[in-house]
Amino acid sequence: MSTPADLPTTMNAVICHGPENYELQQIPVPTAGPGEALVRVEAVGICASDLKCYHGAAKFWGDANRPAWAETEVIPGHEFVGTVVQLDDVAAERWGIAVGDRVVSEQIVPCWKCRYCLRGQYWMCAPHDMFGFKRRTPGAMAEYMVYSADALVHKVSADLPPAHAAFAEPLACSLHAVERAGITFEDVVVVAGCGPIGLGMVAGAKAKNPALVVALDVAEDKLALALECGADLAINVAKEDVVARIKELTDGYGADVYIEGTGHPSAVSQGLNVLRKLGTYVEYSVFGSDVTVDWSIISDDKELNVLGAHLGPYCWPAAIRMIESGVLPMDKICTHQLPLAEFQKGLDLVASGKESVKVSLIP
Ligand SMILES: [Zn+2]
Ligand SMILES: [Zn+2]
Repeated sequence: MSTPADLPTTMNAVICHGPENYELQQIPVPTAGPGEALVRVEAVGICASDLKCYHGAAKFWGDANRPAWAETEVIPGHEFVGTVVQLDDVAAERWGIAVGDRVVSEQIVPCWKCRYCLRGQYWMCAPHDMFGFKRRTPGAMAEYMVYSADALVHKVSADLPPAHAAFAEPLACSLHAVERAGITFEDVVVVAGCGPIGLGMVAGAKAKNPALVVALDVAEDKLALALECGADLAINVAKEDVVARIKELTDGYGADVYIEGTGHPSAVSQGLNVLRKLGTYVEYSVFGSDVTVDWSIISDDKELNVLGAHLGPYCWPAAIRMIESGVLPMDKICTHQLPLAEFQKGLDLVASGKESVKVSLIP
């Protein structure tokens, strides 16, 4: 494998040294090993999970119930797009890509050896190496990154703005949550939260063509955006009694499906109360703390189906098609693009959550 003549030897990268200890540093440009691809990063989105990792949430750094999963001395960033600058024949053949192609990679890099991987359930891979969280898989908050040989790589149209193309990751996640819900034509579907994940859930739910898609949030501008993403109705939960309103819409029964994407504990009990008996609850959020609910609603009262959802397996081609098709108001979803050096400002924008929807860094 030859090295392109214009490839620099060092690059800027954000390094996570631990919670609230991220730094922009000059480090060597990585080299692609056999079967790997070296990619020039064009855009990397900042996810709510990046923020939770930054703040030291137990899901990443461990607690009494789980070991630490995230590692230090890692470049963050798992929602990204880039251009291939170098790859060998093995990588080119495996992924059907060439130098100059624009490509995304799924955020998880499966081991392909564990029980889950062998059954095609690669998104639950036991070692669970994800770009941006593990030393084996450095992420995209850098000028260059390597797509590992075990990665799942997809081509994206070169016509899209970089931040839009990088939205394939969160959108694939949203679509997986929608798939988990098993929506049918007569369903009233309620999506809680109109952040990047919730908006994708709204669009995905609408694509399943149910009777009604209802979006919930507390911010009027995000509710307006949800309507543009396909919601039939947007309800401000700070101003209206959601349970009463949904009951009114469903002859007193309640919603068939509730998909939770806010990460707020109050949205969990809200969902249990909004659902009809035998309804389906899908949880996608990563919570900063434990959530307490009355479990007898799930059992005795309603016999609910409560389902989890994680990552976006088998939903990447659909997510990419959806972005390329132009059905989503991508200019309004991708609100902020900042240079890599302003990563802290980016994290702060995501933290405040008010003026931004999707914040991206452009290395
Ligand atoms: Zn993400
Ligand atoms: Zn595995």
